[in-house]
Amino acid sequence: MRLRNIPGSREAIAANRWCIQEPEGAKGAWKDIFGNGNPIHIEIGMGKGQFLMRLARENPHINYVGIEKYSSVLLRALQKMEECPLDNIRFIRMDAEDLCLVFGQGEVGRIYLNFSDPWPKDRHAKRRLTSRQFFSRYQMVLAGSGAVEFKTDNAGLFDFSLEEVGAAGWRLDGVTRDLHHDPAMGGGNVMTEYEERFSAMGNPIHKLIASR
Ligand code: SAM
Repeated sequence: MRLRNIPGSREAIAANRWCIQEPEGAKGAWKDIFGNGNPIHIEIGMGKGQFLMRLARENPHINYVGIEKYSSVLLRALQKMEECPLDNIRFIRMDAEDLCLVFGQGEVGRIYLNFSDPWPKDRHAKRRLTSRQFFSRYQMVLAGSGAVEFKTDNAGLFDFSLEEVGAAGWRLDGVTRDLHHDPAMGGGNVMTEYEERFSAMGNPIHKLIASR
């Protein structure tokens, strides 16, 4: 994601009704925040939020939480929400390393990772959102029936992720190297901003679904 600092973005987020201002206070209190006990699905590294907002519109009985590290990026999602408000979505500006401070055991039903940063240097492998270190965080917040869904066009990152699923002791429920030509896994696919861009360039989209 190309980053341009937008002056005032932090202040805009701090005053926004869809942003959780004190994320650590949300742990164990998500039912109160949404005002219902519907399942909670999260996207980590949601960028400008196109994917999550489409899901939220299509699935009003699921609550969605978008997590994004950078305020300048998150601000774009918040601007879209002003145009088309949705009750079943909230956002948090934070680093996903702190996931377990914000969600309690079993509070999350599904985790989406879309076109996550590849962190190409080996010494940065544990920063990849599909590293075994992140899978152990996901294990701490996911419900027993929960799953992680990961999409990317980066074949190297995808190979790494397949290995990490096994190393973390998770199982693969689905794998494809060409999502857009895979009738079984591609049905009902909702495209992200990056997915639209990379598939328009002819890159095949890889996807895996993993559970414990
Ligand atoms: N998911 C979007 C899509 O597919 O269009 C955006 C993909 S973009 C390449 C990756 C996004 O993940 C960026 O907005 C980046 O700031 C965010 N990100 C990367 N590492 C993160 C982390 N540890 N915690 C939260 N967000 C992160």
